[in-house]
Amino acid sequence: MSFGYRRTTNENAAQYFERLTSAGHGSVLEHASFSLLLYGISRSVTHELVRHRAGVGISQVSQRYVSGAVLRFVERPEYQNDPELHALFEERADRAAAEYEAMADRLLERQERGEALLDAEYSTDARKKVQQTARSLLPNETEAPMVFTGNVRALRHIIEMRADEHAESEIRNLAVRLFLCLFALDPILFGDYQIQSLPDGTYRVTTKYRKA
Ligand SMILES: Cc1cc2nc3c(=O)[nH]c(=O)nc-3n(C[C@H](O)[C@H](O)[C@H](O)COP(=O)(O)OP(=O)(O)OC[C@H]3O[C@@H](n4cnc5c(N)ncnc54)[C@H](O)[C@@H]3O)c2cc1C
Repeated sequence: MSFGYRRTTNENAAQYFERLTSAGHGSVLEHASFSLLLYGISRSVTHELVRHRAGVGISQVSQRYVSGAVLRFVERPEYQNDPELHALFEERADRAAAEYEAMADRLLERQERGEALLDAEYSTDARKKVQQTARSLLPNETEAPMVFTGNVRALRHIIEMRADEHAESEIRNLAVRLFLCLFALDPILFGDYQIQSLPDGTYRVTTKYRKA
């Protein structure tokens, strides 16, 4: 009812929402939500992201259903310009993929021999039983794509916590990108944020209206 003639109109929506965020009336922000496809992110970063429970929905690629043929690994920025660390990352990724394949082959053999724990009635279940066992050797660097839905109040909180300069660098990079996407989509609801560069060449996002 605040919108309309003699009240707030769309032309001054920015002021209206700033009043809400500055006063901490964040519950209104729960009516808008965004869904994002996150890929090129590692299992270690998604494990941190899923700690945010309030106001979010998550669907993640299951390593039980997706075969090792599409395994991908995520290289941390600290390794990318360092030839030795980069080479070690590549070796590790090749080794993990090879070990996964070798383990899946061994499990398949045992399944064919009738091992009870690997037994299944349908072929999709049989594959799942092999993959769910073999995946446990995969490293934190394994890519773990997800669809992440959050209401604006929750997304703002995640940006504030995770794009902070004290947050771990991989999740900070993700949170900064999240902010850039959301700001492009809705410059009003995320208009109080500022992106700043840090001495190490990375970025942080700040706002004076934390935890609306
Ligand atoms: C720099 C950093 C370091 C961290 N280190 C560790 C670590 O060493 N170990 C570790 O286990 N975790 C760690 N975490 C994760 C952290 O403890 C939280 O689990 C995570 O940030 C989720 O945030 P949140 O609790 O605000 O939850 P969200 O789900 O994002 O909730 C948003 C807000 O809703 C409210 N809320 C949500 N759930 C409840 C509830 N059940 N009851 C009451 N209010 C609720 C709270 O106000 C909360 O802040 C770290 C996080 C950061 C940013």
